[in-house]
Amino acid sequence: MLEEIAEQVRVCTKCALCQARIHAVPGEGPEDAAIMFIGEGPGAREDALGRPFVGPAGQLLNQLLLQAGLRRPEVFITNIVKCRPPGNRDPLPEETAACHEYLVGQIAAINPSVICVLGRPALQALIDPTLSISREHGVPRVIDGITYVPLYHPAAALHQQSLAPVLVEDMKRLAPFLGKRAGG
Ligand code: URA
Ligand code: SF4
Repeated sequence: MLEEIAEQVRVCTKCALCQARIHAVPGEGPEDAAIMFIGEGPGAREDALGRPFVGPAGQLLNQLLLQAGLRRPEVFITNIVKCRPPGNRDPLPEETAACHEYLVGQIAAINPSVICVLGRPALQALIDPTLSISREHGVPRVIDGITYVPLYHPAAALHQQSLAPVLVEDMKRLAPFLGKRAGG
């Protein structure tokens, strides 16, 4: 199921972001992941490699996950748009809308306990366009049986180092959810 979605994403031409991409970036992680992370969109390195969060923000994400007692191979990581917005601009509403069915399919296939929503564009696209990440970070809310936890985007913590410990503290609340799926 996840692999079928990935194959569709790799050849998708449903929005204009297909035009400048090198690689679409479907996402990666186990189909039975208890926790999903959803970022904004691929950057230059992700576009070059076809993998999510492999540039500077990804390096920091890996470190923060470890500090919070999580391991990257046990979580599923993707983005609200699967192709790089030119110059890393925010995805446009029509691009996010065109790409949404892939994310819906991934969430349905994985059926995670928790979805971590990384940064303002993902928060506003997935939960509510009026929400502010500085107010909502770390505050869980249950939608359709899944707990959504907004988090600062790791790229924001690259620019503002004081956000890194906040991200780790917010992520530490996720560790108990990993156990929930053990054996099931
Ligand atoms: N930033 C994102 O939002 N997603 C990535 O995959 C990489 C950087
Ligand atoms: Fe298709 Fe999504 Fe890429 Fe747009 S961003 S071309 S909808 S995969």
